[in-house]
Amino acid sequence: MSVRPAAGSLTCRLAAEAGAEYALAVLDPGAIDAAALTWEYALSDYVVTLTVGGAPAGAAPSLNAQSVAASEAQPASDVVEVEHTGDPLDSPAERDRPWTVGEQFRILDPYLGTYQSARVLRIYDGTFVVAWFEQGDPTRLAQWLPRLDSAFPVVREHAFPLLRGTFADAVPRTSTRSGQYLVLLRDSLVRDGVGYVGLAHAEAVGDTAFTWIELKVDTAYQTTGLASLLAHEMTHSFQRMYTHATRGVRASSITGATLWGVEGGANLLSYETVRRYAGLPLDGNYDWRAPDAGAAARHVALRAQPATGEFTAGYDNAMGFLRRLVIQSAHSGSTVDAAVRTVARGAVEGWYGYDGITHRAGLVSRMRALLGYRWDPVEALLDWTLSHAADDLTDNPEFQDRTSLRVWDIPDGTTGWRASATLTSAQASQARVERRYGSPFFAYLLDGGNGITLGITAYRNLEGDQIPSPPPQPIDIRWKLVRIR
Ligand SMILES: [Zn+2]
Repeated sequence: MSVRPAAGSLTCRLAAEAGAEYALAVLDPGAIDAAALTWEYALSDYVVTLTVGGAPAGAAPSLNAQSVAASEAQPASDVVEVEHTGDPLDSPAERDRPWTVGEQFRILDPYLGTYQSARVLRIYDGTFVVAWFEQGDPTRLAQWLPRLDSAFPVVREHAFPLLRGTFADAVPRTSTRSGQYLVLLRDSLVRDGVGYVGLAHAEAVGDTAFTWIELKVDTAYQTTGLASLLAHEMTHSFQRMYTHATRGVRASSITGATLWGVEGGANLLSYETVRRYAGLPLDGNYDWRAPDAGAAARHVALRAQPATGEFTAGYDNAMGFLRRLVIQSAHSGSTVDAAVRTVARGAVEGWYGYDGITHRAGLVSRMRALLGYRWDPVEALLDWTLSHAADDLTDNPEFQDRTSLRVWDIPDGTTGWRASATLTSAQASQARVERRYGSPFFAYLLDGGNGITLGITAYRNLEGDQIPSPPPQPIDIRWKLVRIR
C-alpha cells in the first residue's frame, strides 16, 4: 500500500498474523515536489518516528527505542567551473598549439595560485595528453603510470562509444588550437577540505565547452579502479558538452541540475564501463558476495550496494536507482545503450528539467515516454527502496534487484544500505530515523502475533539552520509497504 498521510502523522493497523514480516519504505517528497516548479535545492534532513505496537492504537506502550542518525557528510561534487580571466597562462583552454610528449609547460596551480611546471608523459591516440605537475614523488608515479596505460584502452573501448552515443558525438577538447584533451596528474587533490581522487574542470567560451581533468596519483588504484575513475571524470566533460549544447539562447550553462544527477549519472557511466569490461549482464541477479575471479568482476560486485541509499548524495548512492531505471527501460523494449542515454540525460537535467538557467525535458518526462504516463518519481524511489529491502524475499516481480542476488545481505563490518530500524510488535518499539533530504530509507516490521499498529510522524529538522531554532515543521511523507514473510 502507498498513501500520502495528512501532514505530520499517521496511524495504520495491519491484521494479525504471527510471524508476518514487512518491508517499509519511507520518503520525504518535498524536494521532488518543489523541483516541478523551480530548480531543486537541498533541504534540511527530515526526521521520521516509527512506532510499532501490537496493542490497539491509543494504548501507551513502554517503548523500546532505536535511534538512527543521519549518515556522515558525503563529498560534494568533483566538478569545477572555471572562470575565464583572460590571462593566456591561466587556463588550459588558452593553449595555442598541440602538446608533445616530453614537453614542459607552465600552468597555473589552482590550489597554490602559482604557476607550476608540468611535463607531458603520454599522449594517447594523439588526443589525450597526460601531464604531471613536477612536484611529487616520481617513484610512486612510475608505479602508477603503467596502470593508467592499461586503464585507458578500457575507457576507449567501453566508455567512449557509450558517452558519444549518450551525450555528444564528439571528442572533448581542452582548447581549440591544441585539438587535445588534458589529463593532469597530481600527488594530492584537496579541495574544500575534501581529498578527491579526480576533478573535472570546465570553461565555456562562446558555443564551446572546454574541459580537462585532474587525477590523483593514488597507488591504491589498480587498472579497473582507474578505468572507472577516468570514465567518471570524462563523463563530466561529456555532461558539460551536452548541457552547453542544449542551453537556452545566449544563456550560460552548468554541468547539471543536481548533485545526484551529475554524480550519480557519472557513476552510472563508470559502472557500465567496468560491467562491460567484466562481461557481466546488467540483469543477471549476480551473486555479488562470491564474484568471479578477476578485478573487474570484483569491482562490479562491490557496487551491488547503492552505498548508503542516500540518493541525493549522488555517486553510488544514486547510481543503483539509475541502474534500475536502465533495466526497466531495457525490459520495456529499449536497447541498453538507448536506456543509458535516456536515464543519463534525464539525470543531468534533473527531475523536471530545470537547472535554474535552462528548461530541458527532465528525467520524469523521459521516463514517462518510455514506461508510461503514470510514472511517478516518488513512487519510483519507494519501489527502488523496496527492491533493495525485499530482494529475493518476495515473489512480487516489482520488488527485485535484477542486478544482484539478495542485495541487502551485507556481511558484518562492511558498509552498505542497511535497514534504518527493525521493529517488532511483540515488544512495543519505536525508532527515530534522521535522513538526508530527498533520500528514502527502509525498515523491517515483524508481527509478534497481535497484528501491527504502525504510527508514523515526520518533520523537517531545521535545527542549526536558524537561531533560535524554530519548532519542528511537520511534513508530508510518502511510504510503501510490502509483505516479505
Ligand atoms: Zn564527479
